[in-house]
Amino acid sequence: MATRLRLIQTYFLHAAYLTPDKLHRAGLRSSAECTRCGSPTADFFHMVWACPIIAAYWGAVVQEISGVLQEEVERLPVPLLLGVMGDIGLRRSDRTFLGVACLVAKRDIMTEWKAKNAPTLTKWRRGVDWCAQREKLIYEARGCLNKHNKIWGRWEGTAGF
Ligand SMILES: [Zn+2]
Repeated sequence: MATRLRLIQTYFLHAAYLTPDKLHRAGLRSSAECTRCGSPTADFFHMVWACPIIAAYWGAVVQEISGVLQEEVERLPVPLLLGVMGDIGLRRSDRTFLGVACLVAKRDIMTEWKAKNAPTLTKWRRGVDWCAQREKLIYEARGCLNKHNKIWGRWEGTAGF
């Protein structure tokens, strides 16, 4: 997986982002308010999950993913944010797809986290496409395109490749 995406996951696991709440406590920002919804205490969990604007974005992303996998994926923070998929009940290849698709969503949330609105689904789709194409080159080079197709085939079919 791309190094930058991996780095985002590491930052995520350590909640290492400077949220409005953290900046406020450090005296670097006059308020701890969420830049998106105006909620008074914008801690990490709020910024990446609980904020109603971001919750709606996750809802839309999960709906897209469920459509691709043709299986209802629940909007739960542990598998989607932390990548811990013990209870999610999907095939291994589907979990791989889900993991990458969520990582793209997390990247978009974090790179635009000072924005007023949620990231767009168009941007997310483009990001997932980029990952699919990159992974394809890697699997192709290893001579196991069948593995690639198992993970990405339905996405590529939906995206109209
Ligand atoms: Zn908010």
